[in-house]
Amino acid sequence: MDSIELSQLIYPDITRTPEDYEEMYPPRELPEGAMVTRLGPSPTGFIHLGNLYGAFVDERLAHQSGGVFYLRIEDTDDKRFVENAVETIISSLGFFGIRFDEGVTEHGDIGAYGDYTQSHRGEIYRTFAKWLIAQGKAYPCFLTEDEITEIRQKQEAEKLAPGIYAGWSKYRDWDKDPEIEKEVIERLKAGDDFVIRLKSQGTPNAAGADIKRTTVTDAIRGKLEVPENFQDIVIIKTTGIPTYHFAHVIDDHLMRTTHVVRGEEWLPSLPIHVELFDDMGWEPPVYCHTAQLMKIGEEGNKRKLSKRKDPELSLSYYRDMGYHPEAVREYLLTILNSNFEEWRIANPEADIDEFHFTTEKMSNSGALFDLDKLNDVSKDVLLRIPAADLAQFLKEWSEEFAPEYSYMFENMDYLTKILDIGRHDKKPRKDLIYARQIVDFIGYFFDESFTIQDQYPEEAEDDIAVILSDYLSTYDHNDDQSQWFEKIREIASSNGYAAKPKDYKKNPEDYKGHVGHVSTVIRIALMGRAQSPDVWTIQQIMGEDKVRERISSELARH
Ligand code: GLU
Repeated sequence: MDSIELSQLIYPDITRTPEDYEEMYPPRELPEGAMVTRLGPSPTGFIHLGNLYGAFVDERLAHQSGGVFYLRIEDTDDKRFVENAVETIISSLGFFGIRFDEGVTEHGDIGAYGDYTQSHRGEIYRTFAKWLIAQGKAYPCFLTEDEITEIRQKQEAEKLAPGIYAGWSKYRDWDKDPEIEKEVIERLKAGDDFVIRLKSQGTPNAAGADIKRTTVTDAIRGKLEVPENFQDIVIIKTTGIPTYHFAHVIDDHLMRTTHVVRGEEWLPSLPIHVELFDDMGWEPPVYCHTAQLMKIGEEGNKRKLSKRKDPELSLSYYRDMGYHPEAVREYLLTILNSNFEEWRIANPEADIDEFHFTTEKMSNSGALFDLDKLNDVSKDVLLRIPAADLAQFLKEWSEEFAPEYSYMFENMDYLTKILDIGRHDKKPRKDLIYARQIVDFIGYFFDESFTIQDQYPEEAEDDIAVILSDYLSTYDHNDDQSQWFEKIREIASSNGYAAKPKDYKKNPEDYKGHVGHVSTVIRIALMGRAQSPDVWTIQQIMGEDKVRERISSELARH
């Protein structure tokens, strides 16, 4: 039997040829330099910051160059499949502004290079496997787990590189030994379990010996010295499903991907992919291996973000906390490209998409993720968003994640005014960060969430009733800011408090306290807090009725 007959015996139903697929999926007609990128998530239901980080790179590269960004679902590991995972991927990434031009969508596939779900592409993988077998570049292997363990033990004892490679699987050279040829044919006919292995063209080396190397240029890491693969890796598993390696090479070739952006955990497999592209006679894509997301851990050391320890690894964390997608995008760019922050300082108002993203400016030694930095970036980003839009964003967030705050959205004008406090000043206030923090921060504007949180100042403790009563009787909602403050000074001096803090500091024994203590009493009665934006401004937004109501009710308690 020759290898063509063997391929026919293994895959009698496969009638198409690689040429058929080359014709079905011709090179894309795109302008010079246009990049084709893809995201290939596994539908595990857990979509994390690393996915968004990679997707952002893909999206920028494709859209900056007038290319195509598509979504491919990599579900060859069927154990990990989770219901609705595809919808979750699309909607979570979509929330952060990641849009696909092609591939899997909620309403089926879009594009001429599908099917875009790996589990639907079995016939394609088998066609190429059949072709490799026919050329003598792949073979069926019947080694059992036990046999493989035994091989490994021998290799260990002889200090040889572990694995299945030339000399170790008797099935590799099936056509040179009539006994084995007979066994292979019989076992195929009997329907025994087998895998398809690549017949590697690499030269096996003893462990530790010099290995041949080739150079691959990675767009992020520059020139990489890649050792030659000599392992007869599995390309089709016993289940008939391809391994990641085989699916990656076939799909990215047929879908005409130009740039493969993926995590650095794939670097060790690069030799396999280099050989597979070579064996297939195809041009490999440009690889872009992104750095792991790191954080400063509890002990001050840099460590990988972990699913178990770091809730911020999950994208749902940012949705639930109510981070604005623009803030997350802006922050990701600061860790993605070292020159982004400089660009932002020079272009404070520009749309983020005007920044020219490049792989060369990406870190290759671990991108440091820091929630405090995200919060700082978010404060600036929220300042650029009009208050009315921010109000709408909070409303939508509350509907999905925190319906208990629905009362805040009954009067959107009121909410907008609240959010707008201090934003147009020369030195604008930066106290809004993310939805959960904002609803807490502005809670005192609403009777539903108003509570007295802080203590009245000791200096004025005995005069709360008299201060509030004086305030109520002299309050005129039409007073301007200076008239209003003048009245506070009067209340202070008529009750034994210094009208100016510096007088009190000079002669503390002459006074009970100073005007600041008096105004703090009013502040706490109105807002429940000793710290807040300007009281006069807040009163103008709250309206006269609420001001009087709050002061009266605190008065009644003292
Ligand atoms: N399915 C792979 C993963 O989830 C994708 C790797 C790649 O982009 O090639 O890690």
